[in-house]
Amino acid sequence: MHRPIKYVEKGLSVLAGGAFNAIQFFNKFNPNESFIPKWSDKPLLKSWQKTKPTLGWPRVTDSLCPKCVKEARKRIIEDGEDPFKVVQEKPGEIKATIIERNNEIWMIKDCPVHGHIEDMMAMDAKFLQHIEAMYPGRDIDAHNDAHVHHHASSTIKYGRGSVLTVDLTNRCNMMCDPCFMDANQVGFVHELSWEDITEVLDNAIQVKPRRQMSVQFSGGEPTLSPYFIDAVKYARKVGYNSVQAATNGIEFAKSKEFCRKAAEAGLRYVYLQFDGIGNAANSHRQVGNLFDVKLKAIDNLHEAGVEIVLVTTLVNTVNNDEVGPVIRFALDNPKKIGFIAFQPVSFTGRDEDITDDRRLRQRYTLSHMAHDVRKHIGITDPHRDWFPISLFSAFADFADMAHGPDREWGQMSCGCHPNCGVGTAVMVDKETKEMRPIPDFLNIPGLIKDMRKITDAARGKKFSMAMMALALLKNYNSLGAPTQFKLTDLLQKFDKTFGLSGKDYGKSTPDRTIEDVVKRRKDRWNFLFIAGMWFQDLFNYDFRRTEMCIIPYGTQEGEISFCAYNTGIGNAANSHRQVGNLFDVKRSNKPTPRRNWFNSAVRTARRTLAPGQ
Ligand code: SF4
Ligand SMILES: [Zn+2]
Repeated sequence: MHRPIKYVEKGLSVLAGGAFNAIQFFNKFNPNESFIPKWSDKPLLKSWQKTKPTLGWPRVTDSLCPKCVKEARKRIIEDGEDPFKVVQEKPGEIKATIIERNNEIWMIKDCPVHGHIEDMMAMDAKFLQHIEAMYPGRDIDAHNDAHVHHHASSTIKYGRGSVLTVDLTNRCNMMCDPCFMDANQVGFVHELSWEDITEVLDNAIQVKPRRQMSVQFSGGEPTLSPYFIDAVKYARKVGYNSVQAATNGIEFAKSKEFCRKAAEAGLRYVYLQFDGIGNAANSHRQVGNLFDVKLKAIDNLHEAGVEIVLVTTLVNTVNNDEVGPVIRFALDNPKKIGFIAFQPVSFTGRDEDITDDRRLRQRYTLSHMAHDVRKHIGITDPHRDWFPISLFSAFADFADMAHGPDREWGQMSCGCHPNCGVGTAVMVDKETKEMRPIPDFLNIPGLIKDMRKITDAARGKKFSMAMMALALLKNYNSLGAPTQFKLTDLLQKFDKTFGLSGKDYGKSTPDRTIEDVVKRRKDRWNFLFIAGMWFQDLFNYDFRRTEMCIIPYGTQEGEISFCAYNTGIGNAANSHRQVGNLFDVKRSNKPTPRRNWFNSAVRTARRTLAPGQ
């Protein structure tokens, strides 16, 4: 039996639906023209102007041959060939076909030299079909960007990305074995100077559309860089309002004072490496009480006003049974955890030598993840409740239109390929811990459709906001919401996220204080976002994905897709990496560190959790 208010709200939804449809009948005619906001030289896009990559199957795309790529690397690193010349030959670039087979989706490709290669893209075709069908289209083309985007086949062409990753140092304070980025093991330190850091951030800010991004300082362990705090401060100073650190949490666990300093400098999120629940699930990292360390880091950071994202890399049959416990942990701690980022394994670095059998056994796709969430927690339907991360761009488009032309920055917008990332969300009552998946009480596809109509009509802020309130009401099902959740809570959540009404929920701008943080946290409802970001490897590489990447690596040689940076050669993007490697090898006569801690985490996890595999 529901509370009586729920039935009143249900009635309101029906009325709102009628009102929305009646107004929209007239509103659809003569849409206003799009304006050019300050943060772009090109106008906002109407939904029908947005481009899309070819989706569905069978489809042909551009990929890489794993063996040819390795041979090209060898030519550069061991034989001393000029990397810029080698990449002109586009080594390893081959066609691939994405097909459906027995209700699974596969990428198959043939190298004229090395033969047939295939790998799984989804263990459930229907899941991926739903995800691709919900893809809203690309953002405004990137422009004013020639100084950072010049990487041949891997050049990023669309939008602005959402997370600018900057590796501050390869130093680390853990002794994972093997850990290729650890100076203790590779014998030298590879670290950005202060000039490097400011140059990367200054360059990034010139690109248009100039959208808010999360600047993520990474490593190694970024907190060990002597410039960590100053780098956070500088990113905020030049205008980014979201700065995060990808960290193992040790420094934050050690010192509340360090947490306070980082928060004051402007650190908003930590992207906390979180392998699983309990010290046993973390023991492969050679620190006996590592889970206790994580808990301490979470407490210290929360107290200082920094929000926490749990980051778990998943390998099929090795640690995918942690999906449930990690989500449970977040549901049990709704005041502290608002975001979980699962990362299905990508076989890069040493793992490129993995046997075919093992690769296929350990391959974990986004569809595996959606099914595991259902299996472990009993919530969310893999065919209904998961969406491409890029669906968020529809909300960003609405906010950009409503904010008008005079803002300095555009809304953060995730425009990645639908094969890259997916997400779902759960509304959790911080007081009672009752939770409901958002799609149980909000018709997301319906809301997106209605919101798109409002955005396309572009009638100005007040009218659009009134229409948006009607659209939210129309698509809201009060009977599926948590017991204490009210319609007004839904409207407020939306307003708080996009800052539309101007109401003060606590600032999130660069000048925010701990008081602002406390104010924002007063909200009874935790919107727990569960995301999956599937980085590529040589076996499933797709240039259609890297060219619209939302996670560019900011380097002294421009911005390169995270996947292009960490996977292979075959494009000028990786020449950057190889040149760096070459210099490092010459300088130190030692193998170059891989600077991707995700990969290291996976390698270590697998080695220890599944010995002998
Ligand atoms: S990093 Fe890779 S998976 Fe993520 S958006 Fe870029 S291309 Fe896609
Ligand atoms: Zn080949």
